[in-house]
Amino acid sequence: MKRDFRFKVDVPKYIYPTGKAGEKFSDGLKKGVIYAAYCGECDNYMMPPSIYCPRCFSEIKQFREVTHMYLDLYTVVLKDFYGRDLDEPVIYGFIRFEVEDKEVEGGLIHRIHVDNLDDLILGAEVEPVFKDVKERRGIVTDILYFRLKSD
Ligand SMILES: [Zn+2]
Repeated sequence: MKRDFRFKVDVPKYIYPTGKAGEKFSDGLKKGVIYAAYCGECDNYMMPPSIYCPRCFSEIKQFREVTHMYLDLYTVVLKDFYGRDLDEPVIYGFIRFEVEDKEVEGGLIHRIHVDNLDDLILGAEVEPVFKDVKERRGIVTDILYFRLKSD
């Protein structure tokens, strides 16, 4: 038996502070830059940035702009939540990062855009496509999608 409950809930306004690391990440997105956190104690980069190093628990004091981005995993979604065919496939990927030649621990899940599904290659270098600067809010959806890097 299917029941349909409808009611209204008043949710009070709240402010969720992102913290020092989140603020740096957010400021970067507004500028069209992706920052990783850097732990100088154990020479470790992290994405998304955090305020403490998960390896040595030192406080993070440095953030560095990522220099390389790679498609590590992806999935192609062909149907919506109800099983209906989508007008066009939606691709979600796990992006890994590097700063200079050093790997960043972690990564980001985001939308991927390619002209042809055959272009999806694991390990391919990608680049972010940001919204117009006036539309950016300092959130991860300021990145519209990642695409294959063009040289
Ligand atoms: Zn550390």
